[in-house]
Amino acid sequence: MGKLAICPGSFDPITNGHLDIIERASGIFEQVIVAVFNNQAKSPLFTVEERVKLLEESTNHLPNIIIDSSDHLLMDYAKEKHADAVIRGLRAVSDFEYEMQITSMNRKLNPEVETLFMMTNNQYSFLSSSMVKEAAKYHGDISGLVPNVVQTALKEKYHHA
Ligand code: ADP
Repeated sequence: MGKLAICPGSFDPITNGHLDIIERASGIFEQVIVAVFNNQAKSPLFTVEERVKLLEESTNHLPNIIIDSSDHLLMDYAKEKHADAVIRGLRAVSDFEYEMQITSMNRKLNPEVETLFMMTNNQYSFLSSSMVKEAAKYHGDISGLVPNVVQTALKEKYHHA
């Protein structure tokens, strides 16, 4: 039985799709570390510190979650933490090839950590941080797609800058 899982991602910002995966992981593992990895290629909107804070505020109802950030390789980070598994979410078929590539590289880097996939809840199949940012930028209604704290943070980013 696994004890510690890591949910890695950009979380720029956390959506209800991410939260659903985190909540389900927290019900299976004794402890879950949600770790923000800074993928500069994605030109993030929020700083790592802001993303960590939004994750903390969105998961404070869950007792066994730790929020962290890292600029190391995921598999080095997993080794350092003695993680049993890495959890990734899968939405549409389009996620599949990308995740296959990362997983096979990660397995080569650290064969001791298993990567597990959770299927998204249908209602979040087409939900991504980038879609949410695009909608928020043009004053679209994003209620129900992100935690309330994220809705507020997006308003501040786009309309009070
Ligand atoms: P990354 O840059 O590592 O892909 P993301 O923040 O985009 O980071 O995603 C983090 C994880 O959450 C990934 O495993 C991704 O597949 C998953 N994820 C993102 N959106 C959803 C969603 N709507 N439903 C389920 N899983 C999701």
